[in-house]
Amino acid sequence: MDASYRTLLRQIELAGSCTHPVRLLGEMVNLATGEVGTKALSVSCKDRREQICPACSYLYKADAWILVSAGLIGGKGVPDSVFDHPRIFATLTAPSFGSVHVRRSDGTCRANSGSRCLHGVERRCLLRHDEGSPVLGVPLCTSCFDYEGAVTWNAQASRLWNRSVEQMRYDLAAYRGISVPQLRRETRISYLKVAEYQRRGLVHFHVVLRLDGPGDAFAPPPSWMDVNLLHATLTGVIVHFELVGLDRENVRWGSQFDVKKLAVDDRGDLRVASYIAKYATKSTGDALALARRFHSRREIELQSLDPHLKRMATTAWDLSRRPELERLHLRHHAHAFGFTGQLITKSRYFSTTFKDLRGNRREHMAQFNESDPVAGTFSYDGRGYDDPRASEVAELLHQARTEVRKVARDQRVMSRGISQGETR
Ligand SMILES: [Zn+2]
Ligand SMILES: [Zn+2]
Ligand SMILES: [Zn+2]
Repeated sequence: MDASYRTLLRQIELAGSCTHPVRLLGEMVNLATGEVGTKALSVSCKDRREQICPACSYLYKADAWILVSAGLIGGKGVPDSVFDHPRIFATLTAPSFGSVHVRRSDGTCRANSGSRCLHGVERRCLLRHDEGSPVLGVPLCTSCFDYEGAVTWNAQASRLWNRSVEQMRYDLAAYRGISVPQLRRETRISYLKVAEYQRRGLVHFHVVLRLDGPGDAFAPPPSWMDVNLLHATLTGVIVHFELVGLDRENVRWGSQFDVKKLAVDDRGDLRVASYIAKYATKSTGDALALARRFHSRREIELQSLDPHLKRMATTAWDLSRRPELERLHLRHHAHAFGFTGQLITKSRYFSTTFKDLRGNRREHMAQFNESDPVAGTFSYDGRGYDDPRASEVAELLHQARTEVRKVARDQRVMSRGISQGETR
């Protein structure tokens, strides 16, 4: 192997096989030799989206899994005893903003709806759409579909969730006949929530919720607060709670929701963790066009996007002019159809953080890095590798590693199968 290739591989290795790392330029002091110099360094982009960076997305998925499983069954500083706390897994959706093509469990779309809409479009669809069909999530009539309502819902969904948690505290306190500050002295609601896009361009949330005692010792909550009460309280809030929106329209949850008690069965809990980690790395309609912020309305128009999603984006762009919606910064979030929040959010005490997990990984990697310790200050020097071949090589390396991991996993499963067969 020639030297330049070896340097290239070393660079890719140091950036964790990232496809387009952030380049930093540093003034460095070698702490062992006292030598001063400049040093270029590539650090991984840490993008969660698989189409942007497969390697970083893989790590993000692993971290998301750890965050959720630690909060459900303990680990990473959270005691195993949280396993016995009341815990719930819920899916909350947006209301309907107009009929869209769907695939029901029996494979039909909208076979039972009747007549035509104001615009003369049939409200019925007798087709059966394949899983992954581009027509799924597209409105039957785009004139009937309330694009403004959909975008403002996305934009206020995070606030709707935060206020729903407040309402839960209020309801729990009322149930017990105590004040909210008194309730806070007895219990704490911890949660982790992941936003995922539905095909119609609206977000929905998967939430893992746990009740703790007060303080930072992860004590159990008082005995009156059990999983049935938690289930009933959250369900009540989803059905009844209404938030007065910034445009004075009420914001509420959709009628499609699911609230599950997590039983004392750790396999189920780990399945929840995998489920959430999977959604955390998925992007909107898997369209690369929506991966980054738009800079102009024209830029949105020029994208080769599904017309429905394009209209969601232009609606967000246009709504940003409304003074009452100003603080939603809809222009910045047009590529996210108005959604202003983080894809994963958690309350402080749910479990560990992405930041801590990354810090641990860095320390772990440093053990295997035999070069002298250095100190210095870094400044941003751009994106990507110097060598144009590097991104492609990084992606190939990541693919190869994933393949190796998969083969190893298959072999483990096979050998387990064989040994189980023998003992039977
Ligand atoms: Zn990356
Ligand atoms: Zn249809
Ligand atoms: Zn219509």
